[in-house]
Amino acid sequence: MVDIIYGMGTTDIIRDFPAIFNMLLKYISIRLLKSKPFIYGSADIINVCNLHCSHCYRWKTRRNEKDELSVEDWRTIIKNTFKKHHVYFVTLVGGEPLLREDIIRTFCDEMPRRICVVTSGTIPLPRLPNLYFYWVSLDDTAQIHDSIRGKGAYEKTKKNILNYTKGPDRNGKPS
Ligand code: SF4
Repeated sequence: MVDIIYGMGTTDIIRDFPAIFNMLLKYISIRLLKSKPFIYGSADIINVCNLHCSHCYRWKTRRNEKDELSVEDWRTIIKNTFKKHHVYFVTLVGGEPLLREDIIRTFCDEMPRRICVVTSGTIPLPRLPNLYFYWVSLDDTAQIHDSIRGKGAYEKTKKNILNYTKGPDRNGKPS
């Protein structure tokens, strides 16, 4: 299949047409009516993280881990917020989102190829169906990165990125 827009072939564009059309309508309403529609979303899917970065408020203010929402809770939220308002793209953050792969899979299932996961990359990066891309945090040189994120964090992240990019051919498509 030929990529027409980055990572998208004809079939993808046809399947995504309703979402693309909605974005076009939103663009027109912004330009002509000065409206402020929802375009981009972000969801904190977990309070827990495997790191304790020096700059981070998460682990300093962590609440009871039993507060985490279930897959069904998130399905309802996705339907009543992101899908209801035709949000085009959602970023998943935490804590460490990869500690809730079940929630990431739910988002990818409900909003295929419109989900990005922000991660420290210290956990192996799974190839999830319909995930658009990973956004991996790297702070600087290995020495500076580890001084912020903990000893050995840089090497773990580097190894996981290299393993991921060495993986099966993606045929020019994000995953
Ligand atoms: S990886 Fe992110 S969420 Fe986890 S401690 Fe570091 S900055 Fe905070």
